[in-house]
Amino acid sequence: MSVSSTMQTVKVVVIGAGVVGFSTAVCIAEALPSCSVTLMADKFSPDTTSDGAAGILFAAQFPDVPLERQRRWFRDSFDHLLAVAESKHSPEAGVLLTSGWQIFKEVPHEKRPFWSEFVLGFRLMTDRELKRFPDHKFGHAFTTIKCECSSYLPWLEKRFRKAGGLVEKKKLNSLRELSKSFDIIANCAGLGSKTLVGDPQVYPVRGQVLKVRAPWLQHFIRVADGKTYIYPGMHSVTIGGTRQADDWRLEVDGGDTQSILERCSQLEPSLKEAEVVGEWVGLRPSRRNPRVEKEMVQMNGRSVPVVHNYGHGGCGVTLAWGTALDALGLVRQCLHQMPPKAKL
Ligand SMILES: Cc1cc2nc3c(=O)[nH]c(=O)nc-3n(C[C@H](O)[C@H](O)[C@H](O)COP(=O)(O)OP(=O)(O)OC[C@H]3O[C@@H](n4cnc5c(N)ncnc54)[C@H](O)[C@@H]3O)c2cc1C
Repeated sequence: MSVSSTMQTVKVVVIGAGVVGFSTAVCIAEALPSCSVTLMADKFSPDTTSDGAAGILFAAQFPDVPLERQRRWFRDSFDHLLAVAESKHSPEAGVLLTSGWQIFKEVPHEKRPFWSEFVLGFRLMTDRELKRFPDHKFGHAFTTIKCECSSYLPWLEKRFRKAGGLVEKKKLNSLRELSKSFDIIANCAGLGSKTLVGDPQVYPVRGQVLKVRAPWLQHFIRVADGKTYIYPGMHSVTIGGTRQADDWRLEVDGGDTQSILERCSQLEPSLKEAEVVGEWVGLRPSRRNPRVEKEMVQMNGRSVPVVHNYGHGGCGVTLAWGTALDALGLVRQCLHQMPPKAKL
C-alpha cells in the first residue's frame, strides 16, 4: 500500500464473528464506504455461541443502562429484522416471525415489559389460554422474531463482503497486535473480552438446548424465568434450557438433557413423541450491563481508539443490530477526533 493511501484510508478492524461482530462490521462497512473494514476472529459460523442461540427477540432489562437506550437497541434490532423477515431474503437469512406465550408463576410487578410496544400484537393472556398451564397465573401473548444465526451469520458475511469488507481468521492474544495495522479497533469478542481486554466483569452463563423434530408445533412457550422454553424454528424445535452462571463446561450434560425433556413435556405433552435430533451447549457472554462505549488505549507509543461492543448475555441476537448502530456512531466520533491527515 502506498504512503498516500494509508494516510487517506482509515483502517477499521472488528474483532468477533458472532452476531454482534458481524452486525457491527456490516453497519460500519455499509455506512462508511471509504473506510477499509476487516473482520477478524478465531471462530466463525457454525462454531460461535451465536450459532446455537434460539434467536428469539426478547429482552431482559439491564440495571444501569438508561431505559431509553435499551428501548432504542431493541426497537432498532426489531425493525431491522422485521424488514428482513418480510423480504425475499427471509429463508436464506433464517429470519421469521413467530407467535407465542410467555407464562409466569406469579403476577409480575411490571405487567408490560419495556419492549412490549415494539413486538407485534402484545397483549395479556386470557384466562382461557392460561388454563393450559395450571401452575401459571399470568402471561404475555405476542408475535416476535426468530433469527436463526446458523443461516443469518453466513448471510451477514455475504452482505459484509459485498460492501467491501475483508475477513481474516486469527486468534488474538492482545489488542496490541493490531495497533500497527489499524486506526480504529471495534471489540466484539463476547466472552473472549474477559482475557483480550482483561475485563473481570465478564462471565459465562452456560446454556444447554436440544433440537427436536416436532413439526406440529408452531407456537412458542417460554417460562418467564428463562430456564424452560419451546421455540419452533425453520427446521426443528429448540427446547431448553439451563442458566448456569460461571459454569465453563461445553460438554452436553445428561442430567440437563433429562431435565429439559421433563420440563418441556410438562408444558407441551406432545413433545414426548418428538425425536431428539441434536444437543448443544453455549456460554452466554454475560456482564451486569453490556459494554458499548469507546476508550483510547495506549499501544506501542500511540493512542488507539477502541470501540467496545460486548457482554450481551442472553440477549445478543435481540440487541445486536441496535448496539451495532451505537458502535457505528462511536466509530464516527473516532473519525471526527482523528488528526486531519488521517481523516477521509
Ligand atoms: C442456549 C442459549 C440460548 C440463547 N438464546 C438466545 C435467544 O433466544 N435470544 C437472544 O437474543 N440471545 C440468545 N442467546 C444469547 C446469544 O447467543 C449471545 O448473546 C450472542 O451469541 C453473543 O454474540 P457475540 O457476537 O457477542 O458472541 P459470540 O457469538 O460468542 O462471538 C464472539 C466472537 O469473538 C471471537 N473472539 C473471542 N475472543 C477472540 C480472540 N481473542 N481473538 C479472536 N477472536 C476472538 C470468537 O471467535 C467469536 O467469533 C442464547 C445463548 C445460549 C447459550
